[in-house]
Amino acid sequence: MPQSRKNPSARLDPRKPLVFSTLDLGRSPGSEYSQQRTVPAPAYVEAGLVGVAEGSDVELDVRMEAVSEGVLVTVTARAQVTGECARCLGPVSGPVEVRAQELFAYSADDGQAGAEGYSLQGDLLDFEPVLHDALVLALPLAPLCQEDCPGLCVECGVPLAQAGPDHGHGPAIDPRWASLQEAAARLGGPGAGGSELDETEMNGNGRRTPSAGEPDD
Ligand SMILES: [Zn+2]
Ligand SMILES: [Zn+2]
Repeated sequence: MPQSRKNPSARLDPRKPLVFSTLDLGRSPGSEYSQQRTVPAPAYVEAGLVGVAEGSDVELDVRMEAVSEGVLVTVTARAQVTGECARCLGPVSGPVEVRAQELFAYSADDGQAGAEGYSLQGDLLDFEPVLHDALVLALPLAPLCQEDCPGLCVECGVPLAQAGPDHGHGPAIDPRWASLQEAAARLGGPGAGGSELDETEMNGNGRRTPSAGEPDD
């Protein structure tokens, strides 16, 4: 900011995509001017898990209307929200549409009106802060990748939507392991747990692997 005077947003750059000129509108109350434009999303449009990527396309329908105090600007904005699902942390994306309206007052004198609200700088107005705030407010607080996202498995943390409906950690043993377990029991014979117990005694670390022969109910 090379030259900040009383109003920090003085000296608007008319080339900025969200700086609108009111030259075509004129100042006679009641006159209107509409246009559509696509602008890059402002920075820091984010809240929690989601946001609008800076620089991504935001489509605007802009309507400016001269009123006695200034210029009433109404904007409908459409942007793409991306982020993480609140339940499974998977990727989320979807459109958001907001409508923002703001009065930009004719600057009465040398920019002192800034504290109360927005004002015109000459024939220019800066809609960026208004659009930014409107988009942030429109972001979902608990975005979901799908309406009924089942979230993560509480036991192993895999996304249940991908793991499938059969995913679970019940007492049933995975059939692929069951046969291994049987084989182990057969090999060990009646004294299956014996060697493990000996080892426990020897190294004294108290580690004991439950063996098939033990009651575990
Ligand atoms: Zn999800
Ligand atoms: Zn699991």
